[in-house]
Amino acid sequence: MPIYEYVCDDCQAQFEKIVVNKQQEISCPKCASKKATIQLSVFATAGNGGSSPSSGGSSSGGGSCCGGGCGCH
Ligand SMILES: [Zn+2]
Repeated sequence: MPIYEYVCDDCQAQFEKIVVNKQQEISCPKCASKKATIQLSVFATAGNGGSSPSSGGSSSGGGSCCGGGCGCH
């Protein structure tokens, strides 16, 4: 479910709403004003990259008995 951030045009209160559909009426929880400006959520992906866990993870398969190595059948 998308959660949008709004700023009330009247009292500048910031609040979040779970928006089911875009035609949904938004009213400020403080002053009940219906004039709220949607804020585009800023998910800044700073610090991308770096150490990735999938680097050099070649596990040499071994030790599994019954895998054909030890002949325990
Ligand atoms: Zn308000």
